[in-house]
Amino acid sequence: MRDDTTGAATFTYRLPERLRDMAAVGHLVQVPLGASSAQGVVVAVAGQPPGDLPPGTEIREVTEILDALPIVTPMQIDLARWVAGEYLAPLNQSIRLLLPPGLEARTFILVSQAASAAHPDSLAAQESSVLRLLQQRGGRVRADLLLDQIHADDPEAVLHAMAERGLVDARHTLVPPNPAPPRVQYVRLLADDATIEASLPRLGRSSKQADALLVLSNRAGAAPMDGGAAAPQPPAAILTLAELCDLAGCTEGPVRALEARGWVEIAGRQTLVMALPGARQAQLGRAHKQAEALSALLDRGGPVELGAFLADTGHSRPIISALEQKGLVQCVVQDPVVLLTLRPAEVLDRVIELRGAEKERAVLEMLQGSLDRVWVGGIYAQTGANLGTLRKLADRGLVSLHSTEFERPQPVGAETPPRLTPDQAAAWQVIEQGMRNQMSGGRQPFVALLHGVTGSGKTELYLRAVQATLAAGRRAIVLVPEISLTPQTVRRFGARFPGRIAVMHSQLTMGQRYDVWDRVRRGEADVVIGARLALFAPISRLGLIVLDEAHDGSYKQSEPIPLPAYHARDAAIELGRLAGAAVLLGTATPSLETYYRARQGAYHLLELPRRILPPRASAPDQASNGHATETAELPPVRIVDLRQELRAGNRSILSRALQEALRQTLDAGEQAIIFLNRRGAATFVLCRDCGHVLLCPRCDLPLTFHRTIRPRQGTPPSGQGSPSGLLVCHHCNRREPTPSNCPACGSSRIRYFGLGTERVEETLRQLFPGARLLRWDRDTATGFDHERFLQAFIDHRADLLVGTQMIAKGLDLPLVTLVGVASADTALNLPDFRAAERTFQLLTQVAGRAGRSHRGGRVIVQTYNPEHYAVQAAARHDYAAFFDRELAYRLRLGYPPFSRLIALRFSHGDPRRCQAEAGRLGRWLDTEIRRRDLPAELIGPAPCFFSRIQGLYRWQIVIRAPAPAALLRDVALPRGWTVDVDPITLL
Ligand code: ADP
Ligand code: ZN
Ligand code: ZN
Repeated sequence: MRDDTTGAATFTYRLPERLRDMAAVGHLVQVPLGASSAQGVVVAVAGQPPGDLPPGTEIREVTEILDALPIVTPMQIDLARWVAGEYLAPLNQSIRLLLPPGLEARTFILVSQAASAAHPDSLAAQESSVLRLLQQRGGRVRADLLLDQIHADDPEAVLHAMAERGLVDARHTLVPPNPAPPRVQYVRLLADDATIEASLPRLGRSSKQADALLVLSNRAGAAPMDGGAAAPQPPAAILTLAELCDLAGCTEGPVRALEARGWVEIAGRQTLVMALPGARQAQLGRAHKQAEALSALLDRGGPVELGAFLADTGHSRPIISALEQKGLVQCVVQDPVVLLTLRPAEVLDRVIELRGAEKERAVLEMLQGSLDRVWVGGIYAQTGANLGTLRKLADRGLVSLHSTEFERPQPVGAETPPRLTPDQAAAWQVIEQGMRNQMSGGRQPFVALLHGVTGSGKTELYLRAVQATLAAGRRAIVLVPEISLTPQTVRRFGARFPGRIAVMHSQLTMGQRYDVWDRVRRGEADVVIGARLALFAPISRLGLIVLDEAHDGSYKQSEPIPLPAYHARDAAIELGRLAGAAVLLGTATPSLETYYRARQGAYHLLELPRRILPPRASAPDQASNGHATETAELPPVRIVDLRQELRAGNRSILSRALQEALRQTLDAGEQAIIFLNRRGAATFVLCRDCGHVLLCPRCDLPLTFHRTIRPRQGTPPSGQGSPSGLLVCHHCNRREPTPSNCPACGSSRIRYFGLGTERVEETLRQLFPGARLLRWDRDTATGFDHERFLQAFIDHRADLLVGTQMIAKGLDLPLVTLVGVASADTALNLPDFRAAERTFQLLTQVAGRAGRSHRGGRVIVQTYNPEHYAVQAAARHDYAAFFDRELAYRLRLGYPPFSRLIALRFSHGDPRRCQAEAGRLGRWLDTEIRRRDLPAELIGPAPCFFSRIQGLYRWQIVIRAPAPAALLRDVALPRGWTVDVDPITLL
């Protein structure tokens, strides 16, 4: 595989002899590419060049294996293949998902002193200084560091010449090899059973006899690894001695040695003789002896062995030669053939014996079935292995070695699990059963949707599931929307499984991220927690994948460059299938697609309808002492109609009801959150008097006000009246002039709506000058700031928290008794088919932050759309009502889950070029759909809602079809187009 963003995905290379035994699928290798050299990942190892190579193609050699451990597992390559196929991306881009962070920065050329070379007496001064430098650095040093210190015009040439003469070795390597841990105390198994089976015949030293035996037994159709010894054998394909030697890369010697051991039989060279059809004695006249011999041959009716024939008949060889010259008989010399005399089931044992790998095998067998680290003393005693044996297994990536330093100290009093509530227990029964089936090799993948209201105890069930996974000797991946926004969840996992989790945190430095990745690869962590990319962590023995807040949009890779636009939810389900791992999707607000699929029976649907009230602070042990856990009502939600506020003369962005509630909360010494989803605060057009939003008559979606299309000086960005510009439908590209009066009520108070958290903050400061206020959004916080903000608020160092959707994610804030939503409309009026869904999800999640303790809580939602079903359903905490309504809408317009979409996007600095390019592809797609009579539909081409990003104009074509990928599967899109399969937004 080529490490490149543009080129073809896979290339074929030959493995040189010295690497043949080491190289396996998943290794990172250095390969020649054109005139230079590149990194690649081995995606397949074949005995033969692929058949589709053009004849005469030169196959070049792999230069180096860059790291002794494979960097991806075969299963991960399968996953990458699936991603590539499903999201219409080249395989090399999908494989990028799997590569260690900062790979480029981590591969070096390492120069070391050649061990064997005797130094010539006459060294150039530079050469002596290179060797001196090498000695000072312990014999090896990174080439880039070394080059800096060579005083020559062309330091690389100096090094190159030295390498040519065998004075130094220059090799690519992933990271400078670490010194082995000081004392190896424990061993853990990394490989799964299938990998072990595949590795067993390769363990130990190289042995040509073993190679030949393997070739022979594979050719005989009874690979020792497949365990199918009892199955009927296909007819053996017989190998001649020469063919066998060629395939095994050996001389006749090892095969003769195998014969001497009695494991194979070499049927010797023999000459067969037969009369040719049509031969008659009569043709021979006076040559009596020849006639006799021919007659005898004709009597035999078929080929006979020459020697036996001569002995039987007393004829001599020259007689036969004479007949042959006359074209009456034919002699055929047969090569010796080699036959396996061992039973197929014995082959593996013999191979291991030949390679001297009995101890390695014994160690692997001992470790199989135990996920926990095993003490080396026990291994040595039971298997007779020594440290060298273990190192060899570690080099092959089958086990990892640990000294005690690698283990984190176990904090005292690791969290103990509480007793499950009846709701939890009912769900757990299904999960436990499903996981048990799955891990005992059940064919049916186990996927469950855990639909539970905020605070209903979903996380507790994830913890249980992880516990059960570890107990079964398997590992788990836990995905969260964003690590820095979900520190509480991460901490709970850390407390329950001390020393066993690895957190893939995007805020870490590249080096730290690499180290976490490497820890996972070496099997030093059993639970990987991270955002969507953690799904591609190099974890072995996977048994469980959890997606917390499974509805979250961040699970979708949305910018398709440079990675494929995969959805971690669907990729997780595929990985679960590949690995035989259970998949848990947990959320209070499942996406329409997910809930629909669960209802259809594709996933187990588990409901947790009641919120759990945590025990009072005064009785922390209440739950674990066996008292019944209390449940709580979800907080009451009051909808405030902002149109009425205006009529009543309140021009503030905060309604009277919200102001009053804030005052009460502050007086009681409690906390409040004011939520405004500013990212969605793009301009839309609405009547302030009747709330009417201007919609496209064809698409039923809000029209967007555009100033960029025909800019004019002096138009305010927002305000009343009718600024110059156009209303555009971003779906079908319909354009309309801006009206000066509302088409519904005739009012002239048309507003171009836009509101941000900063304005909310200002307003609050004016209204409550004494309150301590925290604004938490992307402008105020980055990286680890999030945790500090959260901690400050939890510690009650602030009374009011103003924030965007980031505060909606799974936080548990016991002192918060009031949540105010400054505007429910920002997401609602976006021209996107998921606008209602996103609004419902956000309102429900934000409302879920209130009332998580005995203090209770309430929610106030301000809106110009009080009747909207998304707002209404969220206010009643009624997912089912929302789902039914939204599903009907999706059905009417043919949107997912009743179809799938692919968004094709094109951006360019020149708007005309954009439009022309979009038009051209649109026409082509249109023709193609008609020509192939596909059940597909095009929406657009039209400019995207965000019609210009970073100076680039954006256009989009959406394909809507039951299986839209079919249209594009074998099409190379023109340059500059990106493909978004199952887009989560059409903005
Ligand atoms: P969710 O993930 O659905 O938001 P959590 O698992 O975080 O819910 O549970 C909400 C609160 O209830 C947490 O404080 C948690 O510790 C507590 N909790 C969960 N399950 C139980 C239980 N069985 N007994 C007592 N408390 C529980
Ligand atoms: Zn109106
Ligand atoms: Zn339209």
